[in-house]
Amino acid sequence: MGNAEEEKDEEWTGEKFENFSEWYNEVIEKAGLSDKRYPVKGMNIWTPYGWKLMQNIDRETRRLVRETGHQEVKFPLLIPDKEFKKEADHIAGFEDEVYWVTKAGQNELDIPLLLRPTSETAMYPVFDLWVRSHADLPLKIYQMVNVFRYETKQTKAFMRMREFHFFEAHTCHATEEGAEEQIEEDLEIMEELSKKICMPYLALVRTDWDKFPGAEYTVGADALMPTGRTLQMAGIHQYKTNFSEAYDITFEDEEGEHKHVHQTTYGMAERLVGAVIGIHGDDKGLILPPEAAPTQVRIIPIIYGDEETIKSYCEDIKAELKKEGIEVDMDDRDERPGSKFYDAEMKGIPVRLDIGSDEVEEDNITLVRRDTGDKQTIDRDELTEKVKSTFKNMQEDMYEKAKRHLEENIEEIDELSEIDEEKIYKFGWCGKESCGKEIEDITGRDLLGTPYHREGFEGECINCGKKTETMIYLSNTH
Ligand code: ZN
Repeated sequence: MGNAEEEKDEEWTGEKFENFSEWYNEVIEKAGLSDKRYPVKGMNIWTPYGWKLMQNIDRETRRLVRETGHQEVKFPLLIPDKEFKKEADHIAGFEDEVYWVTKAGQNELDIPLLLRPTSETAMYPVFDLWVRSHADLPLKIYQMVNVFRYETKQTKAFMRMREFHFFEAHTCHATEEGAEEQIEEDLEIMEELSKKICMPYLALVRTDWDKFPGAEYTVGADALMPTGRTLQMAGIHQYKTNFSEAYDITFEDEEGEHKHVHQTTYGMAERLVGAVIGIHGDDKGLILPPEAAPTQVRIIPIIYGDEETIKSYCEDIKAELKKEGIEVDMDDRDERPGSKFYDAEMKGIPVRLDIGSDEVEEDNITLVRRDTGDKQTIDRDELTEKVKSTFKNMQEDMYEKAKRHLEENIEEIDELSEIDEEKIYKFGWCGKESCGKEIEDITGRDLLGTPYHREGFEGECINCGKKTETMIYLSNTH
């Protein structure tokens, strides 16, 4: 949206599938995920609710990478010009997007510094000092930091920003096989994370002209948005020795020989939040997976009658859930129930517990599930058990629903003229860059890549007719 502020009180227009972009911007604002009024274009403020959602996703990512032996670090934000310029493809890929710092106070800096667009060039000069022998390998580190890229396309909250929150894991290995195993491990981490945020995706090896600058190859994780366009959520990159040769990162092997390390990286950004918002919301607002939601349960006291008794019944429920480690709050504002329901729905809180005098009298609770809207009456003494089983069912149902949507929107075709919808198409491709670029020109869409986990295919290139065993995916991208 533009910088002119919309009327805060404007009626919610909903209609997710009719105008996704408008819906997306509105839900972010109304649910309080981000504030775009910061006076630098492309740089938004993380508001508490949005930041908590990001942190919950980060917490899961941390758990997964720690389990696989990665250690957390934090490198400086500024990178010297000369370090940045060591790997030719990397510079070419980023030079138009870099923010420079050239002055300190009144003085010009001797060596210009740049704000990290990603941290290869910050880390790799030091890796050579950290890695001495084969005993230091594999080196597996990660950090969660903000990065800066001067986007020229229109910016969009959580999807395309000039400053954004970034996870980056960097590894060094003695052999290419070691690096290949790392990529497998990264994909397993991605798979587990995608279950937590109910976000099925395709793992596709990017074309050579679309891979990460400096990489040997890149695996992109693409989710499908309701628009029929794909959104890249993560990138996993095999560098081989491209960077270690440029930065001279060597180790002494068991025979005393000095060799360059093999490297990989795994990057994810706040787009994970953008994908969660886009894929699961509906006309009433957000729908958050219970395992990522900042608030998992909201208690709504419906006060007609004995206020004190109802409130103490609610407090008791809140305390019980809290003790179970569930993120719970209570909306005890002096508002009509309808407006409290609206708010809980807009924020995508997975479970709502409505409690009025009937519930107190009968010692039960009305439980409402956000994704389906299903209401059920549960006994007071089965509270924790029912809340937990609802979480579990929601996680599974939300994942399955998104997976069906993804699968139903992939179509295999034999002719480019069959492309007439906003979805993902797949077909045979000869593997030649000139032919691939021609396909992109003809269709006006992007080749996403070939499946990382090969799908058996035998046929012809959709464009030039050459026999091929390579299947490639195509879509419009966000
Ligand atoms: Zn071809």
